[in-house]
Amino acid sequence: MIIVCPECLAKNRVPEDKLTANPACGQCHQALIPLVPIELNEQNFSQFVTHSDLPILIDLWADWCGPCKMMAPHFATVAKQYPNVVFAKIDTEANPRLSSAFHVRSIPTLVLMNKSNEIARMSGALRSSELQKWLDQQLNTQP
Ligand SMILES: [Zn+2]
Repeated sequence: MIIVCPECLAKNRVPEDKLTANPACGQCHQALIPLVPIELNEQNFSQFVTHSDLPILIDLWADWCGPCKMMAPHFATVAKQYPNVVFAKIDTEANPRLSSAFHVRSIPTLVLMNKSNEIARMSGALRSSELQKWLDQQLNTQP
């Protein structure tokens, strides 16, 4: 499968059974699946999302939003447990065009994407156990 490097956006081909073996980017040698939320923005979004074969869970947040800050450590904790899902954050203030493209009405909003398609969405802050439960449900309903 193709994994896009969060550091340099190079496309890397990684066998599915090597996902948990901490694969590195062939170009820049950074971790391809860092297990921490990566930052997506208007510059790297389409390159990253269009080419990634892994589902991407996006946290749309803003600096002034209390519930977003409350959820951030939970999001980071859950990210460590899913090497087969890319966890990403989009700062809605810094990226107004992405924010309007997602029709964000309230934050935090979580959007799960698979090959550029939105497959699930959830608004409001979740704790790690709730986030994990919701994510498992969404992943299990995928073909
Ligand atoms: Zn790279």
